Amino acid sequence: MAAPSSLFRGGRLFDGRGFVDATDLRVDADGRIAAIGSGLEAQPGEQVVDLDGAWLLPGLVDCHVHFREPGLVRKEGYLTGSAGALHGGVTTVLEIQNNPPLMESLELLQEKMRGLVGVSHVDFAPYGSLTEAALPQLATMAGRVPAVKCFLGCSTGAGGVDDEPTMRRLFSAAAAAGIKIVAHCEDNAIMQAAAAAASADQAVRHDLMRPRSSEVQSIRDALRVADEVGADLHVFHISTAEGGRLVAEARAAGRAVSGTTAPHYLLVTAEEAHAAAHNRFKVNPSIKYAEDRDGLRALVADGLLQGIGTDHAPHPLEEKDRPYAKAPSGFPSIDLLLPLTVAIADESGMPLEAALAAVTALPAEEFGLTSKGRLAVGADADLVIADPDEVRTVDEISLPSKSKWSPYHGRRLRAFPRAVWLRGHQVYADGAVSGDPRGRPLY
Ligand SMILES: [Zn+2]
Repeated sequence: MAAPSSLFRGGRLFDGRGFVDATDLRVDADGRIAAIGSGLEAQPGEQVVDLDGAWLLPGLVDCHVHFREPGLVRKEGYLTGSAGALHGGVTTVLEIQNNPPLMESLELLQEKMRGLVGVSHVDFAPYGSLTEAALPQLATMAGRVPAVKCFLGCSTGAGGVDDEPTMRRLFSAAAAAGIKIVAHCEDNAIMQAAAAAASADQAVRHDLMRPRSSEVQSIRDALRVADEVGADLHVFHISTAEGGRLVAEARAAGRAVSGTTAPHYLLVTAEEAHAAAHNRFKVNPSIKYAEDRDGLRALVADGLLQGIGTDHAPHPLEEKDRPYAKAPSGFPSIDLLLPLTVAIADESGMPLEAALAAVTALPAEEFGLTSKGRLAVGADADLVIADPDEVRTVDEISLPSKSKWSPYHGRRLRAFPRAVWLRGHQVYADGAVSGDPRGRPLY
């Protein structure tokens, strides 16, 4: 069903890289952007949306979420997770299945995607899983997934690669199949040594149990092995300034290397995370220190990382409320991506354009999504209207994703999305999803 054509007038338009004041944008009946310019005249029968200076942004691209479907929908699911995405201004998710069944074949990926049509409110693509079992299947995944996910270091309880021969075999196979690798980088041996040496007081500090050196060493090893075998490597959720700089330097040297960080590494310190109740900020990699936060902010400000992904990883609060060692890692955050991104710019002083590019154009380019993450003629009309001056206090119960708790509860944030369009259809307005789920698989 085609949407009527629509004209958005008088907005402050962010095109994925920069702002353009007082600009109009037309969406055609096929849900694509047909024109951008000032003084566009309404056509007969056209729906007109007056923006009165509000922001008009491309739908955000979250390149790192866990929606836990299939297999663990008691914790989340695409219906609730994608409703949370719209609340956060996100219209495209790249999603990692980190609970069984892992995405170790094209058949499993296709079965998963078929099950999500009519369920997801946003466009979506699951990553493949880079495991030993997936190796014979990798060639069939090429071009059908954004990348394949490799866990270097244990994170989810599902194991993880902790020896270099295995890493080399997996990376070689991905390189041979021509598929980008996305990696969780933490070194198991360093984490085990930290745990063995910790006093009782230290053993409840997540930043000490998963120390800075575990990420830095793992990134060094992954960069070296990727270089040796000719693999295209993307490091996810970088939590240390040194790790971020290693990735940026390798990229600057012309290597096929890239990386993203996450909002919490840009907004929160280890001390604040430790003080939070219910292990709410317990996440892997652990949240590090002010100098890591500041170093990562500088890399994002300079466009030297390829984006910010939430790592939305929901768990029921009663599980997070267990004693530290038994509480699962990860927390929900996709519901707040746009306001958190604006807070990163506000608190760091980085240009707003740099922060917004990190959740729009940069991740779209990184994962080859040419019709997403930007406002340009021919791109999908995935649009977000937000009032930059409206400040709200985060109320965790009101968030649409399943958990109904947030480590950001009580924070004052601005620029919550007021309305969202997906390929020309309005799908969200004033806090509520509108219409049936329209999300489509990408790739
Ligand atoms: Zn993750």
